[in-house]
Formats: sequence, structure tokens, C-alpha cells
Amino acid sequence: MIKLELPQQPQLKEIDVCFENYYKSLLEKLSKDGNTHRIIPEILKLCGNMANFKLLITDEWLNIKNKPDSLLFEYYLVGRFYLELKKMKASDDKKYRIEWVSNILQCITHYPKMEELIDCNHLYYGTSNFSNFLRKNKNVFNNFDELNNKLKNFLDYEYFREHYRVTLWELYGCEVCPYCNLMPITNHQNFTTADIEHFYPKSIFSLFCVSKFNLVPSCKDCNRQFKGAKYFHYNPRYEGLDEYFKFNFSVNTSFEQTIDNYLSHSSEIAEDGINLAIKSYTKDKYVKETLSILEISSRYNSTPNRTDICKFIKDTERIRSLVLKPIVEVKNKEDILNLLSPFIDRGIYQSRKFMNIEKGKFKADISSMFQDYIEGLLYP
Ligand SMILES: [Zn+2]
Repeated sequence: MIKLELPQQPQLKEIDVCFENYYKSLLEKLSKDGNTHRIIPEILKLCGNMANFKLLITDEWLNIKNKPDSLLFEYYLVGRFYLELKKMKASDDKKYRIEWVSNILQCITHYPKMEELIDCNHLYYGTSNFSNFLRKNKNVFNNFDELNNKLKNFLDYEYFREHYRVTLWELYGCEVCPYCNLMPITNHQNFTTADIEHFYPKSIFSLFCVSKFNLVPSCKDCNRQFKGAKYFHYNPRYEGLDEYFKFNFSVNTSFEQTIDNYLSHSSEIAEDGINLAIKSYTKDKYVKETLSILEISSRYNSTPNRTDICKFIKDTERIRSLVLKPIVEVKNKEDILNLLSPFIDRGIYQSRKFMNIEKGKFKADISSMFQDYIEGLLYP
């Protein structure tokens, strides 16, 4: 998962204008039929005041989550517990149910205002019968559900999507899905592959359904099939997972797996003999969860990617032959390194700004295994 590279000014400004305009249209709706929706008291209760409500639509999460006199952080916490409850299965170890109850109780002692959103007196502690546990604890969230239904109708994400999706995605100029870095989105098939992904699922966090910080450009596969309504800890708007894992590969073969050997045996290496893998550099459970939910390993372990690696090994072997035999066309280090560019542009590899390159991280990780080797050949 790659950090979303935000566009430059003036696009950024125009993006802000979209959200500010939507906020204005919500205000008009409130002045016309606020009473019909009976939503003004709810908005004031959650946001504290209208200025905070504006920020909720137009600003970054970090700037609004801790607004005093608001319930925004409490709303977020309640949503997290609700998602966890909905995710539980009968087959789960009973300890998850016990932990869930004790975590929510502990959280309420730190954030007592959570009780304004849920009915904590009816928390159910009996964990032996799963369906009872689920049914009774879901009742705790009845008020939260009701509130979300009102918010959903009022904020009207469907209307927002219809009017702003294409404009926004043109402004973001994000060419590849930041979640998988695998699928082209913008400028592709007239935006038909580009979805608006709600980082905090809109089914639980209706309050955030038209908030700038919560809307991430993504491919349809990630939005609908893989991430869906699941909780991720790291919002690609603020953080990517590039540093936490690397793509790597091995070859089904009897020789020792070194780059030298790969190159020496390059003619024998077949595409179907290559196994792609992910090496994780963290113990962070959220990173592991994200990679597993997105099924990164199996989505990348498909033939076209193995073809890329095979081609890369063979290209690198060509370069090695060039380097070893002094040859007139290849005059300097840059020329030789540029021969690697069919795989990935060196500048991109060095800056690791591959957000807008299809499989950019994958290519950068694989080429980095070879890059040092090639540099070593040139400048031992
Ligand atoms: Zn995707």
C-alpha cells in the first residue's frame, strides 16, 4: 500500500473548493429543511459547533479529531468497537469476546462521553453463547445506528458521488490504485475503474461519508472486493506501507540463490519456476492485516509479474555481459544503468515515488536487488 501523493497547487486548492461547495450545499439544505431531517441538534452534539462541522467536511483528520466540546473522537471510537463486533465469528476464540467487552469498558472510563452515543448499561458480558453475545451487544449500538441513518440521508453520499467523483479524480491525478498499486485508475477507460473508497467504511462511519480525509481514490477490486467495509489502521492519505515490506522472489532450482547464480543460469530460469514472496520488516499487526486483507501476495503472484522478473533477470545478464566486455556503445555508468530502465526508471527507484506507476513498488523492490549488484560491477 502506497502513500497517496497529493497533487500540486492549484489542483489542491480546487479539491478544497469542491468540499467547501459541498459544505455550502449542506448548509442550504439545513436552512431549507433542517427541521424535516431533525439533524441540526445531532450535528451540534457531534461536532460541537458549525465551524467544526465545516472542518469535518473540508479538513484533515488530525486537525479535527480532538476538537474540545465535540464528540468526534468518541464517534470514531464507538465506530471501531462496532466494526470489531460485526467482524466477530462464532468460530472465533472466546477470548476475543472477553477482550472486546473489557476493551470497550476500559475505553469508556477514559472517554465517558461515549455513553452519549451508545447504551453502555446494556453491554452483555456472557460470552459462552455467540449468537446471544452478538445480538445483545448489537442492541447497545441501536442509537448509533439510528444516528447514522439520519446522517446518511442528510449527507447524501450518492449525490456527492454523482456530482464530484470525476472532477475530484481528475484533480487528484492518481493514476494507479494506492491500495494495491496494481490497477490503473484515473485516465483509464473514462474513469470506469476508479472508485471512491471510504477509508472509514461509510456503513459504520456515516458521519465521515463526504469528508475529504476519508475519500481515497481506489480501484474497484480493492474498494468492493478486498478492503470493502473493513477497518485499516493506516490511511493512504497520510501513510504508506512501503517501508514495512518488500517484494522478493526465489527460483525453483538446485543452485544457491544468489544474484550471480541467477545471472549465470539466466537461460535456464523459466517463468513458472519463479515464486514471488513478500518479506515483512515489521511486527505491526495492522500492516500484516492490511497486506493480508488486500491479498497482495496472491494478487501479485500471477503470471504477468513472474514474466517481468524473468525478463529482468535476462536483461540484467545482458548488461553484465556488456560491462564485462568493454564495448564502445556503453560509455559510462549512467548509460549502463539506463539499460535497466525497461524495468523501472532509476529516478523513480531512488526516490521511491512510484505511486503513479503500475506495480511501481514491486518493480522498485525487485530492481533494488539487482541495482547494487550492477553498481558493484561498475565500481568494485
Ligand atoms: Zn486496488
